[in-house]
Amino acid sequence: MIQTIIQAVQNYFDSVSAAFTTYPVFFYFVITILGLLVGSFLNVVIYRLPIMLENAYKDEYQEYFYPEKELPKREKFNLMVPASHCPNCNHKISAIENIPLLSFLCLRGKCKECGQKISFRYPFVEALTAILSFIVAYKFGPHLATLGGLILCWSLVALSGIDFDKKILPDEIIFPVLWLGIILNLFTTYTDITSSIFGAVFGYLILWLIYWTFKIIFGKEGMGYGDFKLTALLGAWIGYQYLGILVLMPAFVGLIGYTLFFIYSKVFTKTKQEPEFAYGPYIAISGFIALIYGPEINSWYLHTMMGM
Ligand SMILES: [Zn+2]
Repeated sequence: MIQTIIQAVQNYFDSVSAAFTTYPVFFYFVITILGLLVGSFLNVVIYRLPIMLENAYKDEYQEYFYPEKELPKREKFNLMVPASHCPNCNHKISAIENIPLLSFLCLRGKCKECGQKISFRYPFVEALTAILSFIVAYKFGPHLATLGGLILCWSLVALSGIDFDKKILPDEIIFPVLWLGIILNLFTTYTDITSSIFGAVFGYLILWLIYWTFKIIFGKEGMGYGDFKLTALLGAWIGYQYLGILVLMPAFVGLIGYTLFFIYSKVFTKTKQEPEFAYGPYIAISGFIALIYGPEINSWYLHTMMGM
């Protein structure tokens, strides 16, 4: 049964990929536009998913500890409902005002109704998602690996945005994507299945060890369990051979990011508090780089650092 389904899916992709192979520019174009549209949706996910989860956790908590109490009534709130609106004047955003990038440029970054500034983040996430999608398509070509790579890269954008805002990496995104990586590697899509499984296991364990070492010796914690799970996810997709990149690169990129962020918040916002730090985005950036350039980075490292 499963074999027949896989065969049918494979045949379908073969025919689509044959068409795209003939017209590669068309393929990149389609994927980039798709990236823009998905980016627009990811803005919604980044903003709404944490609120949805918070509501769900509260309800769960209450049902478990206070089953006799009635659950609070809430307006319907999910990724689709209510429709997008201006947070200032409640003006409902029409389809024409919701075209990725173009609408922001045409409206000059302001609400059509009340002139309230629209956050620069929306077009940024759209453009970023489009660019990353193009890179994935360019790297893997019209094959199953692109489809998987797109799902991974979109999830990383959503996770980074949520972690940046709320300092959480929701299991609701991490686990399905982790399992998907293992399933794709059953067909050796990015690495063999053994490397994939060890990538997940050691990805988690290495960060867990670093975390506890720091906590015991210095009494400090720079990351959380979400970061271990995200590293496990990336290990499952690209294999244990790239754990060096997945563990070391976020520390370097994160140090640069943190320094910039620290200067920014001291100079511009003048807060006395130390800025809260999200490590997830740096793991995500490193994971994406390892997905695209992993083999090159590894061989460069062996060459120049180890003289091999
Ligand atoms: Zn408005």
